[in-house]
Amino acid sequence: MMSGSFVQRSDLFSYNVLKCLRNAYHFNDCTLCIDLCPENAFSIVRNKLMLSDIKCIDCAACVGSCPTEALMIRGFNPNAYAMNFNRLKESGISCQKSIPCLGVFDAHHYIIMALRSFDTPTCDMAHCGECPLNENGAVESVIREKISAANNFLAGAGSEKYIGMNEEKSEQNERRVFFRKALDAAKETLITDADISAAGFEKTEYSDADTPFKLLLLSSTVKENLENLKKVQSEKSGTVFFNKAVSFDLCSLCGDCIQFCPTKALESTTDGQGIMFTQAKCIGCGICNHICKTDAMVSEDGFDLVEIAHKRARQLIRYDMAVCRECRCYYPYKGGEALCERCSGFKMEFSDMFVLAKDQQIIE
Ligand code: SF4
Ligand code: SF4
Ligand code: SF4
Repeated sequence: MMSGSFVQRSDLFSYNVLKCLRNAYHFNDCTLCIDLCPENAFSIVRNKLMLSDIKCIDCAACVGSCPTEALMIRGFNPNAYAMNFNRLKESGISCQKSIPCLGVFDAHHYIIMALRSFDTPTCDMAHCGECPLNENGAVESVIREKISAANNFLAGAGSEKYIGMNEEKSEQNERRVFFRKALDAAKETLITDADISAAGFEKTEYSDADTPFKLLLLSSTVKENLENLKKVQSEKSGTVFFNKAVSFDLCSLCGDCIQFCPTKALESTTDGQGIMFTQAKCIGCGICNHICKTDAMVSEDGFDLVEIAHKRARQLIRYDMAVCRECRCYYPYKGGEALCERCSGFKMEFSDMFVLAKDQQIIE
């Protein structure tokens, strides 16, 4: 049965329609959850994502892949688990223990666990091969991609921490019903203000509703660990942090990219004459690139962990404003004649007409 409410629920799983990128921007074509779902529980109706509560088996394999945290599983909070991993004293990250499926985590969670742990967190991969969720190998392949993205990030930042992978089954491991232990662990893993304060995070640091919580927690964890990271700048981006640039000549300061950025990574400068970008908030969805009519917005390689750790916004572009001598409107001045783009376009298009009128005056 399809439901039209903003939050669609199966028994334990919920999908927040308002947080989905397809809702943020009509032309967005994100299929991350669809590609992964072993039960084909998602479908697209008029380019919007719908969840079938009959097909969904609450496996949570898709949860970690959603860049905006639109997908959630009741009773297991991957953000809280990652933040408290050290305190939970689990010997490994395993679906045979308190995790529904390793797919519940994104690379961000693995980095948080590695950086906040004294020992090396190890993922139990020994059960993916025979797991019914993994029939076409998609779930395992995404889990391995996330772990590898986390390890690449950690290695690139010069950290000695990493996420290990255990490929061997241990004798005690037995397949058990999904969620039995996860639900038991829910009390421990449900995030609370007390947990966050205990971990040294102030509420103001994670109360930005537009930015996925996993990004904010990761940037705060990076801040805590900055002195242990030997390389804080990278020329490559990877799949965890992203970078943007705007062409001075092409941008018309229309503000579409700012309006449609789902995480508020793009914001207007306080004087409204430019664009600010916060790397710590960008999920690399590409909406800004797609929506820009003049192709002024481009993706760039590289990131700066100091900027990310402090959630610092960087100015991508700023213009002085000038008054157009034809229409008398303010426009972003790029040099040359004081004509706004609309008037200079008009002048170019109808240049013949102006010449004829001038010629006409001379004849008269
Ligand atoms: S992964 Fe998230 S943003 Fe992408 S289609 Fe699914 S719910 Fe929407
Ligand atoms: S970068 Fe593109 S979308 Fe953003 S303000 Fe400039 S022209 Fe508009
Ligand atoms: S800056 Fe662009 S790519 Fe990054 S979150 Fe905003 S719209 Fe998406």
